[in-house]
Amino acid sequence: MDFRNLKKQYEVIKDKVDSRLLETIKKGQYIGGNEVQELERLLSDYVGTKHCISCGNGTDALVLALRALGIGTGDVVFVPDFTFFASAESISSVGATPYFVDVNEDTFNIDPERLIEAINICKAEGKNIKAVMTVDLYGLPAEYNKIENICNNHGLKLIEDGAQGFSGMLNDKIACSFGNVATTSFFPAKPLGCYGDGGAVFTNSDELASMVRSLAVHGKGKDKYDNERIGYNSRLDTIQASILIEKFKQLIDFEIGEVDKKARVYNEGLKDIVKIPFIPDGYRSAWAQYTITLKNEDERNGLSKFLKEKGIPTMVYYPKTMSGQTAFKNVEYDKNKLKVSEKLTKTVLSLPFSPYITDEEQNEVINSIKDYFNGRK
Ligand SMILES: *Cc1c(COP(=O)(O)O)cnc(C)c1O
Repeated sequence: MDFRNLKKQYEVIKDKVDSRLLETIKKGQYIGGNEVQELERLLSDYVGTKHCISCGNGTDALVLALRALGIGTGDVVFVPDFTFFASAESISSVGATPYFVDVNEDTFNIDPERLIEAINICKAEGKNIKAVMTVDLYGLPAEYNKIENICNNHGLKLIEDGAQGFSGMLNDKIACSFGNVATTSFFPAKPLGCYGDGGAVFTNSDELASMVRSLAVHGKGKDKYDNERIGYNSRLDTIQASILIEKFKQLIDFEIGEVDKKARVYNEGLKDIVKIPFIPDGYRSAWAQYTITLKNEDERNGLSKFLKEKGIPTMVYYPKTMSGQTAFKNVEYDKNKLKVSEKLTKTVLSLPFSPYITDEEQNEVINSIKDYFNGRK
């Protein structure tokens, strides 16, 4: 069994992808060009932002967003303690300092109450707080209805790390449209993935958009050879854009609906045995992962091992908090305020999942999990 069946997806869209890919190669433009523009327009129309700027990967997208907001040395940016390393890494790589905030045990996303607490602590200490970076973990948008207000009340910018969230929704808004600026990743296993690295930045601000475009191409000015600032070389390949155009259609026409059905199959089969993902009213998950929560580390590791022996792959996203990372050993944090994140690193387990998982595969996973718990009783 595959953890995320990307080969199956390719089989389904092979003809369309192959012909578009060949067409792009034949045309001979490999950087920029119509495909990149077409993709950016498709994605910004869908997400509902004025601008979409594609770039090299999801980590670059975060760095470009932070730089465009003017965040740098001496600034503090709030970020969940329970996320993929790149979220916090991007903050440090522009010279700012991440401030780790605990997450909600049910949604896995940054906890608005803990965020307010963290803001007040930093204010009392006279820290130069600038922004909040939320993460739509496993595909579920963060609590933007609350977080946008918190940011407004405290004069903070909001960056949505939508690497896992693309196609998720909160009420009538689609993920990657929240905050001042949002980002996503087209890493192959993400909800919208290409066949290599890729990413994008979304914003309604003309000013931020033109800054991101400049930074992504060596800080270019109006004249290509007058560079106004130090930037990066971070572009989405034309080939990847052409693949993404086809994959985006498949996401909209088929995958979004399908993945929700598959999630309900797991929910039904597993709800009486383990803690299943919680999707609050008004939210739609992009289902980047289907993640269950076990009682403790022994139970989690035992189940993972048991499934592995039966040929069922599982993953632990993530076995370490940000505060526990060696690279952040010099970043200040209060362990007592990050207990949920710490606990989740020991209890979460992501199951094989994608819009292409079959009924047989899902039944096998569900029955194996049942066997594990029956055997232990
Ligand atoms: C994957 C991911 C990123 C980084 O994306 P890349 O394209 O791999 O650089 C950033 N944040 C989160 C939450 C991610 O899951």
